Amino acid sequence: MIQYRANGIFTGTRLLDENWVLAVREDGRVEGVYPRSSVSTPVRVLEGLLCPGFVNAHCHLELSHLKGIVRENTGLVQFLVEVTRFRDEVDPAKVSAAMEAADQEMAQSGIVAVGDVCNTFNSAEQKLRSSLYYHSFTEVLGFSDSSARDRLTQILELRDRYRARGLPATVSPHAPYTVSASLFRLIGSLDETGSVSVHNQECLEEEKLFGGDQQAFQEIYDSLEIDRSSFQATGKSSLQSWLPLMQEPQKLLLVHNTCTTGQDIRFAQDSPHELFWCLCPNANLYIEGRLPDISLLRQSGCRMVLGTDSLSSNHRLSILEEIKTIRKFFPGIPPAELLAWATENGAEAIGAEQLGSFSPGKVPGVLLLGGSAPFRLDPDTTVTRIL
Ligand SMILES: [Zn+2]
Repeated sequence: MIQYRANGIFTGTRLLDENWVLAVREDGRVEGVYPRSSVSTPVRVLEGLLCPGFVNAHCHLELSHLKGIVRENTGLVQFLVEVTRFRDEVDPAKVSAAMEAADQEMAQSGIVAVGDVCNTFNSAEQKLRSSLYYHSFTEVLGFSDSSARDRLTQILELRDRYRARGLPATVSPHAPYTVSASLFRLIGSLDETGSVSVHNQECLEEEKLFGGDQQAFQEIYDSLEIDRSSFQATGKSSLQSWLPLMQEPQKLLLVHNTCTTGQDIRFAQDSPHELFWCLCPNANLYIEGRLPDISLLRQSGCRMVLGTDSLSSNHRLSILEEIKTIRKFFPGIPPAELLAWATENGAEAIGAEQLGSFSPGKVPGVLLLGGSAPFRLDPDTTVTRIL
């Protein structure tokens, strides 16, 4: 048994002061968190804040080789055009090496679990080798109603290839501007055994599309040769258009939410789904140069989680860096709340229930946040994984 005491402990839900001790077995299983007065020695005393391992709820490991290649601040349309241009133009050995480096970068930045979007089987070997827990969101696109059944069949095959190797996976629609109403209905009638992830309301173009703008996303549809003829504008917001197509209650991970309004949030909260709202602030700044209304999401009682998105739209894969960005733009959000988004909420969102908190029996990994004022999660806060 190892017993740790520091300047404080964040348990996954609350912040405790220096008068508490974390007890963990050598294999990483949490024994409990106890008052200092009730614990016998020896206790390892550390400088900083103890915290469960971070969960990165949104990444695309298979795009890691695009680091530094896609231009910043061009908007989502241009971003997607560049990603699709460059993603397949690399030799497979480089793709594998980039995924391995990205996986190691995540481990070094205190991430213990990842919700990873994948369009191919390329990331499977790295996931099997990795020390991190991965949930794979096998992602489907298909904007023509007539192709919906075939697209679903193909993506179920990919999902089942992951599952056959022991890697948890669920089907996930890419985004409302690339998934037809028929395909949403088919996905929405699946009885998935885990959460379903959707890129939601990432840019204004998406709202324009559903509002009836014929030119919205045309550049993407042209460059990807996507047939948009079955799309019908609803005159409603994107979220209010696609969410009702998901008929079976699902555990839904809504990613980005850059243009989500209060009315959208209430609409979603009235649906039968269990909702998690994922923020990827550094990717939003990289692509669109704007952030979601995080204050509004928070005040509306949304369950928040954090993601890095991929190295095609981020300089680093670090949940701590995402937290620092939120602290910079929304300094009023209490640090303990941000840590809950990064740990327990994230673990629940991707079905990694053994992680995310210091509850007895869990194996969440132990992080030590250091720096001049780790309780404030300032720009100089550091993270080290100690167990
Ligand atoms: Zn993404």
